[in-house]
Amino acid sequence: MAGTIGLGAFSELIAQSGTSTGSGTGKMKLTFYPRELKLVNPFGVALMTRTTTPALQVELEYEGRIGYGEASLPPYLGETLDDALALLKKVDLSPFRSPFEIEEILRYVDRLAVGQTAAKASIDIAIHDLVGKLLGAPLYKVFGLSPERIPPTMFTIGMDEPDVMRKKTLEAVERFKILKVKLGGDKDKEMVETVRSVTDLPLTVDVNQGWKDKQHALDMVHWLKEKGVVLVEQPLAKERIDEHGWITERSPLPIFADESVKRLNDVLSLKGCFSGINIKLMKSTGMREAWKTVALAQACGFKIMFGCMTETSCAIAAAVHLSPVADFLDVDGNLLIANDLFEGVRLVEGRQLPSDRPGLGITKIPNMNGG
Ligand code: MG
Repeated sequence: MAGTIGLGAFSELIAQSGTSTGSGTGKMKLTFYPRELKLVNPFGVALMTRTTTPALQVELEYEGRIGYGEASLPPYLGETLDDALALLKKVDLSPFRSPFEIEEILRYVDRLAVGQTAAKASIDIAIHDLVGKLLGAPLYKVFGLSPERIPPTMFTIGMDEPDVMRKKTLEAVERFKILKVKLGGDKDKEMVETVRSVTDLPLTVDVNQGWKDKQHALDMVHWLKEKGVVLVEQPLAKERIDEHGWITERSPLPIFADESVKRLNDVLSLKGCFSGINIKLMKSTGMREAWKTVALAQACGFKIMFGCMTETSCAIAAAVHLSPVADFLDVDGNLLIANDLFEGVRLVEGRQLPSDRPGLGITKIPNMNGG
């Protein structure tokens, strides 16, 4: 199965964990280790199914406090655990005086490698957690945001047999206010009808580039509108920007870019071709660039969604602290894994809420293997 790492291989990788400030001259100490996230249920999207996601946990220590960070490395993004480890080993924070030099540190990290946005995000998240702890404030306050404005999170009902989907949907409606269905296979209408047979909650659909023809996509969007769907994500292949523009112009529903947008620099070229963009910390190199991306995207007239990969409550908390600026939220990643390493995000009436503790507000779950 694509992207699954056997336990043997993983043990070898664990031996590759390390510390980046070997000289001892830096005031900040960066440590990191791989950790395999285990999915509660196999996760089906248009192109594949998988049961685990490789990840990398990061700890950044300064003056007795530890900031936590995380890289989630789902195989379809093409960023391997080996690549991420190699990048983190290159990081030398000894020239920097304190974690408050966020802009300088992250610019330095960004220049160490092309791409590798998840590895970069792990450092960004750890620095923000650390700075929040040093300031004694939760990150939503540091960013000037109000948790009352956090929208409900979508919860994804994975592709499955109708009976299984009905059961999963029945469980989900007890906890969530908006659901997401992954389309782009050959049973799209059947799947939507199956979910609709048990709930009239608002639905979103994510096609993950799965539709081949723009007219078919537009016909589907019209049909989905009749079914109470409120937005459609990434109907066509990521590089077909103009055809997405053709759909968006004619669509009765907002069309969101996900695979078509990675970083800040991608936003301008999408203007007019989508209604909104899905910002994920693992694509944007973390919270700082995500924050800049929100500003540019809003200036371009885009609506904002925050999404996630399979992540522990560490990276999910980072997204949740920024999420009061979002119009839509899809931050269910920590709810899909069986071995979360942290607690600190609470699901309350369908909304993922941050804690009031400083930084990310997360604490390690006792006895959970940290690698
Ligand atoms: Mg998506």
